[in-house]
Amino acid sequence: MAWLLHFHNQGRKLGMAICFDNTYAQMPDRFFERVAPAHYPKAQLLRVNASLADELGIDPDWLESKQGEAILAGNELADGAEPIAQAYAGHQFGGWVPQLGDGRAVLLGEVIDREGRRRDIQLKGAGRTPWSRGGDGKSPLGPVLREYIVSEAMVALGVPTTRALGVVATGEEVQREEPKPGGVLTRVAASHIRVGTFQYFHARNDREGLRLLGEHVIARHYPELIGQQQPWMALLESVLKRQAALVAKWMQLGFVHGVMNTDNMAVSGETIDFGPCAFLDTFSFGKVFSSIDRGGRYAWDQQPLMAHWNLVRFAETLLPLIDSAEEEKVEAAEAVLASFEEYFQKVYYRGFADKLGLRVVGPDTGSWIRSTLELLESCHVDFTRFFASLGDVVRGQESNLRSEFQDQGPLNAWLSKWRAITENQPDIERMSACNPWRIPRNHRIEDLIEAAESDDFIPFHRLVDALAHPFEKDPRYTDMEAAPRPEECVDETFCGT
Ligand code: AMP
Ligand code: MG
Repeated sequence: MAWLLHFHNQGRKLGMAICFDNTYAQMPDRFFERVAPAHYPKAQLLRVNASLADELGIDPDWLESKQGEAILAGNELADGAEPIAQAYAGHQFGGWVPQLGDGRAVLLGEVIDREGRRRDIQLKGAGRTPWSRGGDGKSPLGPVLREYIVSEAMVALGVPTTRALGVVATGEEVQREEPKPGGVLTRVAASHIRVGTFQYFHARNDREGLRLLGEHVIARHYPELIGQQQPWMALLESVLKRQAALVAKWMQLGFVHGVMNTDNMAVSGETIDFGPCAFLDTFSFGKVFSSIDRGGRYAWDQQPLMAHWNLVRFAETLLPLIDSAEEEKVEAAEAVLASFEEYFQKVYYRGFADKLGLRVVGPDTGSWIRSTLELLESCHVDFTRFFASLGDVVRGQESNLRSEFQDQGPLNAWLSKWRAITENQPDIERMSACNPWRIPRNHRIEDLIEAAESDDFIPFHRLVDALAHPFEKDPRYTDMEAAPRPEECVDETFCGT
């Protein structure tokens, strides 16, 4: 149990700028490659996430200093950093890729935050690594700002997610279809271990690697499983529960991840990879934004199925660790995998019931949620505004909701059924706590990226600030609460590469 002690006996080192306490860099060499982040002499710090810095025990004023800027740009290494690029593989849009790995990200190390949780600090866009294949290891500024905005919005919206500690403009151009200004994001995550990390070792028949990885993950993310008789099936179930809850939460916010490949599913249960993601404006079950998702594999309503598909891949990697007969362990894994639907439905129904102000989930709740969403789809109604202004109805003001519908007939029918179901006493507290007024809308993100590409960062800062308290209506940000006009709609998003 030496590995266990290693995780729980680490004291906090004080008096240093970033108190690194690295464990992944102590894994065997085949888990990663040691790398040095690129240098960006003209880098300029755009934003530091002061409250996150504080949570990590990092002085926000220091992080905003010239030295902090140099560290967030990768130009200097903080004491104790052990920069590595992690190995992983993955299924991308269903196709197997035996070797991916961090091609443009460098893990600086881990810290223990104020609540005792281990967190990774990683630079994304930090230059080439041995896993870069044909890529330049860099990132345009646009996707970096998008990830900052959306990941921090997810926190405020109550969704488990990787976070953004800071962002710099590199002062250099990256060559894409046209030259674009470059950026580096500092990402913070419970870990960057993916389903694809397990697949990497599984594909190499590296049972010892799998075991070490599995033990690391249990100690780090699921310590309650230590000492279990069947740790690997328990791990599968724990990861499955968190993914089921995560996807249900995404859907309740109209979030379409867009690239749910196995290398983009973190075993910690955090949302990771904000490449082509987007929030729905008008509701549509099969909505897809990503330009590369031609078959609609990762459409809004496909997300639970695809999470399940990824979990089957995860289960496959765990089987070699179990000693029992093949048939027996496959059966055990199938039983766990079959529980996904129940876990998902529980969170999905409860969440939508909250959005609608229903106090109890009953046998008809599922079909009532479905018919509500059908109303939104057939009337082309904005998903976020519908639920937010339903709260206004409870507060005695119906006009906001009415203005979302061109044709009042279907709304009237729906409203009378809703009043009957809620017995005229919808739970407004639940509704207000989960129906945001502001989400990171696509057209707003595009606006701020365009401005940032001309060195105007005011719209970026303003949107970050507007999304910090999304559940409170705010007269300063009515423009952020509005749905896009038809000519403003952004229906297609692109990967951040
Ligand atoms: P993603 O699209 O972020 O999920 O990345 C998929 C894979 O492509 C990962 O292995 C990335 O590290 C790699 N990758 C993405 N962009 C670049 C880039 N600009 N240079 C090198 N590798 C990249
Ligand atoms: Mg990725």
